[in-house]
Amino acid sequence: MDQKYCSNCGRPLENGSQFCADCGYRNGAEESYTPANSLNVLSLIGFILSFLQPIAGLIISIISLKKPILNSRDKNFSIAGLVISIVGVVGMIVSFFFLNSIINAIVQWVENTYDNFLSSSSFRFF
Ligand SMILES: [Zn+2]
Repeated sequence: MDQKYCSNCGRPLENGSQFCADCGYRNGAEESYTPANSLNVLSLIGFILSFLQPIAGLIISIISLKKPILNSRDKNFSIAGLVISIVGVVGMIVSFFFLNSIINAIVQWVENTYDNFLSSSSFRFF
């Protein structure tokens, strides 16, 4: 049988024991791998989405940060996703108001032009 090592501290494990005698960490191949993998995917998805859909990226980054087990690389992805998402959301809000004021100015101009057109042409029609 292969000698197993604690995945937390690296010390050799006693045969058949899941629990590390040194640090008490529970070593179980399947149990510790699945959440780490799903977290990895979530962190990555949040990171990628933060560029494309800041609000979705923000939500997924927060979810991935709330998962209990984080290795430093996944955590960096989650934090990067979170920061980029926040910047993206703020950018969206700013550009929304900026766009809104431009559209308002255009609508105002069209309305004024239309009013001028109506009042100047009213003699001809009525
Ligand atoms: Zn250990």
